[in-house]
Amino acid sequence: MIGTSNLAREFWEQGKSATCPIYDMHGHMGTWGAIYFPRGEVEQMIGTMDECGVKMLTFSHHHALMSPDMGNRPSIEAARRFPDRLRAYCVINPNYPEMAAADLASFEQYRDVFVGFKFLSDYHRVPITDAGYRPALEYADQHKLLTLMHTWGGSPYDGAAAVRTLAERYHHVRFLLGHSCHDDWDAAVALARDFPNIYLELTAIFDNRGALEKFAAEAGSERMLFGTDLPWFDPHQAVGALFSAHLNDEEIHNICHRNAEKLFGEILAR
Ligand SMILES: [Zn+2]
Repeated sequence: MIGTSNLAREFWEQGKSATCPIYDMHGHMGTWGAIYFPRGEVEQMIGTMDECGVKMLTFSHHHALMSPDMGNRPSIEAARRFPDRLRAYCVINPNYPEMAAADLASFEQYRDVFVGFKFLSDYHRVPITDAGYRPALEYADQHKLLTLMHTWGGSPYDGAAAVRTLAERYHHVRFLLGHSCHDDWDAAVALARDFPNIYLELTAIFDNRGALEKFAAEAGSERMLFGTDLPWFDPHQAVGALFSAHLNDEEIHNICHRNAEKLFGEILAR
């Protein structure tokens, strides 16, 4: 059923809400070999964000993930073009240890851009527990930074068991579980309950009936973060699902902006 709360109605009528800006905490950008994105470049993505009340997107450019010859430069350039709308994750790919070391060494230079790190372990085929990630994790732990990890249920690279190993080791990293250990919802909830520095990021969950309500009831909306994988998924779909879920407006405010504002506030204060 379509949501009928005042907040939902405001979105249906205006396409956004003055009191409920959205922080999309999981985006990408640019071309990808296996798929055509009609609105995948930075100006087009800003256009999609404008249509849908997304104030801020935190992202990693596809080239930063998949083209080690380019590295994080495309993310940095895009974020600096739109400093009020974009922040980036510094991608760490342990298959290229010299690059990872160089990215870490220059991290402070890009404090206006980077809010933390991004690991794509299922794709890079390196488990998140691998020593190659350790320098970045230690840095994130020391500086209380975000680390968005692709996590997927049952994965030997980034499933719930591997996440737990890291969470036991690093108490100050703000771990964002990208896709919330997809389809392993009980394990994701258990991680959020056991570790105060774990957040459930909602990309690819908006089409899953009941998962949003389960997370809010069992982990708490204070631990959930809006995310879309933009341009892979569209914030219109996410907004439609979220504002029509069985959640109250306080929970929706937490998910859309309050939790993200708190995280950003902590990073700026460091
Ligand atoms: Zn992603």
